[in-house]
Amino acid sequence: MSKVSVASRPSTRQERGIALFRECGEEIEHVEGGRWRVPSCSCGGAYLVDLRAESCDCLDQPSEDEVCKHITAATIAHAKSEECSGCRKKVLRRHLCIVPKDHPTLGGLVDELCKPCAVSQGVA
Ligand SMILES: [Zn+2]
Ligand SMILES: [Zn+2]
Repeated sequence: MSKVSVASRPSTRQERGIALFRECGEEIEHVEGGRWRVPSCSCGGAYLVDLRAESCDCLDQPSEDEVCKHITAATIAHAKSEECSGCRKKVLRRHLCIVPKDHPTLGGLVDELCKPCAVSQGVA
C-alpha cells in the first residue's frame, strides 16, 4: 500500500494569492485610497498594488482575465479590513480597537482605531 500524496502546491495565481495572504497577511499594509503594499514572501521586498486600477508593480503580467497574486492578496486584505477613524488607513478588523462610548474625548466621535492610533489616544 502506498500513500497517495495530496499535498497540493498552489497552482493558479488566485491560489498563490490566497496562500500569500495566509502567510503574510499581517504584513499587508494599506497605503491610501486603493493602494496597498504587499510583501513578497520570497524575496523580502514589497510590491505596490492599486486595487482601483488593478495594477501591481511586480514583473508578473498576467493576461487580461487574471491578476497577479499580490492583487489577489490585497483584495482579500481589503475585504477583511475596516477603516481606522483616526488615520483613515484600513487595517484588519481583528486589529481594530473599539473606542468605548464613554471615552472622555473620543466617545461618540470615533468608533474604531488601529493599534498605533489607539495607543497615541490612550485607548489601548
Ligand atoms: Zn504583483
Ligand atoms: Zn489609525
